[in-house]
Amino acid sequence: MNAREFLHQIDDTRIVEAIKAAELRTSGEIRVFVSHRKRKAPVLERAAARFEKLGMSATQNRNAVLLYLAPRDREFAIVGDKGIHEKCGPGFWVSVSQEIQEHFRRGNYTEGLLAAIDRAGDLLAQHFSRKPDDRDELPNDVLRD
Ligand code: CA
Ligand code: CA
Repeated sequence: MNAREFLHQIDDTRIVEAIKAAELRTSGEIRVFVSHRKRKAPVLERAAARFEKLGMSATQNRNAVLLYLAPRDREFAIVGDKGIHEKCGPGFWVSVSQEIQEHFRRGNYTEGLLAAIDRAGDLLAQHFSRKPDDRDELPNDVLRD
Protein backbone atom coordinates (compact mmCIF):
# COMPACT_ATOMS: atom_id res chain seq x y z
CA MET A 1 0.00 0.00 0.00
CA ASN A 2 1.46 3.36 -1.01
CA ALA A 3 0.87 5.82 1.84
CA ARG A 4 0.48 8.86 -0.36
CA GLU A 5 -1.92 7.07 -2.63
CA PHE A 6 -3.81 5.86 0.41
CA LEU A 7 -4.21 9.35 1.88
CA HIS A 8 -5.29 10.68 -1.44
CA GLN A 9 -7.99 8.08 -1.78
CA ILE A 10 -9.52 8.08 1.67
CA ASP A 11 -12.90 9.71 1.30
CA ASP A 12 -13.96 10.81 4.79
CA THR A 13 -17.42 11.91 3.72
CA ARG A 14 -18.35 8.54 2.28
CA ILE A 15 -16.88 6.71 5.26
CA VAL A 16 -18.84 8.80 7.76
CA GLU A 17 -22.00 8.16 5.74
CA ALA A 18 -21.31 4.42 5.78
CA ILE A 19 -20.81 4.44 9.55
CA LYS A 20 -24.07 6.34 10.03
CA ALA A 21 -25.92 3.89 7.79
CA ALA A 22 -24.44 0.87 9.59
CA GLU A 23 -25.31 2.30 12.99
CA LEU A 24 -28.95 2.66 11.92
CA ARG A 25 -29.09 -1.15 11.92
CA THR A 26 -27.40 -1.84 15.24
CA SER A 27 -26.54 -0.43 18.64
CA GLY A 28 -22.90 -1.27 17.87
CA GLU A 29 -20.51 1.64 17.33
CA ILE A 30 -17.98 1.72 14.50
CA ARG A 31 -14.95 4.01 14.24
CA VAL A 32 -12.14 4.43 11.72
CA PHE A 33 -8.63 5.56 12.69
CA VAL A 34 -5.79 6.21 10.24
CA SER A 35 -2.30 6.31 11.74
CA HIS A 36 0.32 8.18 9.74
CA ARG A 37 3.10 7.22 12.08
CA LYS A 38 5.51 4.42 11.55
CA ARG A 39 6.15 2.57 14.75
CA LYS A 40 7.81 -0.58 15.90
CA ALA A 41 4.93 -2.00 17.90
CA PRO A 42 2.72 -4.55 16.12
CA VAL A 43 -0.33 -3.01 14.51
CA LEU A 44 -2.76 -4.95 16.70
CA GLU A 45 -1.08 -3.59 19.85
CA ARG A 46 -1.25 -0.05 18.51
CA ALA A 47 -4.88 -0.51 17.57
CA ALA A 48 -5.79 -1.92 20.98
CA ALA A 49 -4.03 1.00 22.72
CA ARG A 50 -5.88 3.47 20.49
CA PHE A 51 -9.18 1.75 21.25
CA GLU A 52 -8.63 2.39 24.96
CA LYS A 53 -7.35 5.92 24.44
CA LEU A 54 -10.50 6.79 22.49
CA GLY A 55 -12.65 5.51 25.35
CA MET A 56 -14.24 2.95 23.10
CA SER A 57 -14.81 0.45 25.91
CA ALA A 58 -17.32 2.81 27.52
CA THR A 59 -20.33 1.78 25.40
CA GLN A 60 -23.33 0.38 27.22
CA ASN A 61 -23.26 -3.00 25.46
CA ARG A 62 -19.47 -3.17 25.05
CA ASN A 63 -19.97 -3.43 21.31
CA ALA A 64 -17.67 -0.87 19.70
CA VAL A 65 -15.41 -1.76 16.76
CA LEU A 66 -12.30 0.11 15.65
CA LEU A 67 -10.97 -0.24 12.10
CA TYR A 68 -7.34 0.83 12.47
CA LEU A 69 -5.23 1.52 9.42
CA ALA A 70 -1.47 2.05 9.29
CA PRO A 71 -0.76 2.77 5.63
CA ARG A 72 2.93 3.47 6.15
CA ASP A 73 3.32 0.00 7.58
CA ARG A 74 0.93 -1.41 4.99
CA GLU A 75 -1.14 -2.91 7.77
CA PHE A 76 -4.54 -2.77 9.36
CA ALA A 77 -6.16 -4.20 12.48
CA ILE A 78 -9.69 -4.57 13.74
CA VAL A 79 -10.32 -4.25 17.46
CA GLY A 80 -13.65 -4.92 19.11
CA ASP A 81 -14.93 -4.80 22.64
CA LYS A 82 -15.75 -7.84 24.73
CA GLY A 83 -19.46 -7.84 23.88
CA ILE A 84 -18.57 -8.57 20.28
CA HIS A 85 -16.16 -11.34 21.21
CA GLU A 86 -18.85 -12.92 23.36
CA LYS A 87 -21.72 -12.70 20.88
CA CYS A 88 -20.34 -12.61 17.35
CA GLY A 89 -17.51 -15.14 17.64
CA PRO A 90 -14.36 -15.44 15.50
CA GLY A 91 -16.30 -15.32 12.22
CA PHE A 92 -16.81 -11.62 12.75
CA TRP A 93 -13.11 -10.75 12.46
CA VAL A 94 -12.50 -13.08 9.55
CA SER A 95 -15.43 -11.71 7.59
CA VAL A 96 -14.65 -8.03 8.13
CA SER A 97 -10.93 -8.55 7.42
CA GLN A 98 -11.70 -10.26 4.14
CA GLU A 99 -13.69 -7.26 2.95
CA ILE A 100 -10.76 -4.96 3.62
CA GLN A 101 -8.09 -7.21 2.17
CA GLU A 102 -9.80 -7.82 -1.13
CA HIS A 103 -10.17 -4.12 -1.89
CA PHE A 104 -6.82 -3.02 -0.49
CA ARG A 105 -5.02 -5.48 -2.71
CA ARG A 106 -6.47 -3.64 -5.68
CA GLY A 107 -5.69 -0.23 -4.21
CA ASN A 108 -9.32 0.61 -3.45
CA TYR A 109 -8.86 1.90 0.07
CA THR A 110 -12.07 3.81 0.55
CA GLU A 111 -14.02 0.95 -1.03
CA GLY A 112 -12.36 -1.50 1.36
CA LEU A 113 -13.37 0.57 4.35
CA LEU A 114 -16.91 1.03 3.08
CA ALA A 115 -17.30 -2.71 2.53
CA ALA A 116 -15.85 -3.50 5.96
CA ILE A 117 -18.12 -0.98 7.69
CA ASP A 118 -21.15 -2.38 5.87
CA ARG A 119 -20.24 -5.95 6.78
CA ALA A 120 -19.54 -5.02 10.40
CA GLY A 121 -22.96 -3.33 10.55
CA ASP A 122 -24.68 -6.45 9.23
CA LEU A 123 -22.90 -8.76 11.65
CA LEU A 124 -23.43 -6.49 14.63
CA ALA A 125 -27.13 -6.17 13.78
CA GLN A 126 -27.55 -9.93 14.19
CA HIS A 127 -26.64 -9.70 17.88
CA PHE A 128 -27.09 -6.06 18.85
CA SER A 129 -30.36 -4.70 17.59
CA ARG A 130 -30.93 -0.98 17.52
CA LYS A 131 -33.44 0.23 20.10
CA PRO A 132 -35.70 3.25 19.48
CA ASP A 133 -33.82 5.22 22.14
CA ASP A 134 -30.40 4.46 20.60
CA ARG A 135 -27.74 7.10 21.11
CA ASP A 136 -24.70 7.78 18.96
CA GLU A 137 -22.29 6.79 21.71
CA LEU A 138 -19.14 7.44 19.70
CA PRO A 139 -18.62 10.10 17.02
CA ASN A 140 -18.52 8.86 13.42
CA ASP A 141 -15.74 11.05 12.07
CA VAL A 142 -12.52 9.54 10.68
CA LEU A 143 -9.66 10.07 13.11
CA ARG A 144 -5.96 10.48 12.28
CA ASP A 145 -2.65 11.04 13.99
CA1 CA B 1 -25.51 3.89 18.75
CA1 CA C 1 -21.21 6.30 16.15
